[in-house]
Amino acid sequence: MKHVKQRRELVAQARRLVDIGLNRGTSGNLSARIPGGLLITPSGITYDEMTPGDIVELDARGGAPIGETEGRRLPSSEWRIHLDILAARDEFGAVIHAHPIFATALACNRRAIPAFHYMVAVAGGSSIPLAPYATFGTKALSRNILRTMKGVTACLVANHGIIAAGATLSQAADLAVEVETLAEQYVHALQAGKPKILPKAEMAKILRKFRAYGQQPAPPPKGRRRR
Ligand code: 13P
Ligand code: ZN
Repeated sequence: MKHVKQRRELVAQARRLVDIGLNRGTSGNLSARIPGGLLITPSGITYDEMTPGDIVELDARGGAPIGETEGRRLPSSEWRIHLDILAARDEFGAVIHAHPIFATALACNRRAIPAFHYMVAVAGGSSIPLAPYATFGTKALSRNILRTMKGVTACLVANHGIIAAGATLSQAADLAVEVETLAEQYVHALQAGKPKILPKAEMAKILRKFRAYGQQPAPPPKGRRRR
């Protein structure tokens, strides 16, 4: 079997999302980029049943299943979303879709997550935007999500759930956790009153600060000149 390491990681991250309560049953799906295509979770199989051999390999051009799983498992019904995002955004190596409770509750009210908390900058913008509704598994839904994710790495999906993408599966999963945390905080903030939204200029400052946040790569050793 090809891509065993990535297949195992997809199953492990999928189970992690269930363990931390971001997905239940067969909701959600995960994908990872491979040369010329992507690996994606199969449709309608619960995460505890799923094995690395159930992961489906898709061709980047048309989404046709290739590789060992051909004819064995059908890819996630949302394969278009994963394929289109990975095709349009070179910076991503993985895409996660989930139906977490709080983010989905907001998305069902057609509410995005505004700058009620500075951490919305975690997805690269001054809000976590909301993709318009379209039927699950359709090209229209993929188009809506792709448009909404312009300039950001995550969004809510109306009457459905969330999408989070990252360079790696663990980065995408961490971002999905952040989005659900923000959604939970926002729902509570709405219950407690009328949350104040941070001004645009403050969010611009925070987005600049975020670029230098955390552990930065070490500078080149002294004495060695940069070419
Ligand atoms: P799949 O089981 O086909 O991946 O579908 C789950 C889902 O969340 C559809 O939006
Ligand atoms: Zn879904």
